Amino acid sequence: MPWVNQDLCVGCSICVDECPVDAITEQENRKAVINDDLCIRCGKCHDLCPQDAVRHDSERIPQEIEANLTKTKDLLRYFETPQEQDQFCERMIRYFNKEKKVAEMTIDKIKDIKNVISK
Ligand code: SF4
Ligand code: SF4
Repeated sequence: MPWVNQDLCVGCSICVDECPVDAITEQENRKAVINDDLCIRCGKCHDLCPQDAVRHDSERIPQEIEANLTKTKDLLRYFETPQEQDQFCERMIRYFNKEKKVAEMTIDKIKDIKNVISK
């Protein structure tokens, strides 16, 4: 999912005007924001932005990991004993393993779709 680096965006509106599904809006400071729910991932905004302000999702991996860790540490305080805390960590590991499995299986299914398309 593309996102707009607010430090790089100069509010030129090019992406706002060119997005085929009106997924990009201009804020009060004129900088652009992308509505993830509307975006169809066409990549047009990324190609058009003169400031290179529209960034790839992969650049947010470190922040997302940090957010997951912050949340885990935050929830940990609800568990008092080392045993309860250990069990909680195990549940979080199971949760993220499930997320990983969902992502891996989804990727495999999309590859199947891609193979059918390219035939
Ligand atoms: S094209 Fe780039 S600089 Fe212009 S509004 Fe969109 S993100 Fe900002
Ligand atoms: S990727 Fe395409 S649909 Fe998504 S915000 Fe950019 S121009 Fe709009």
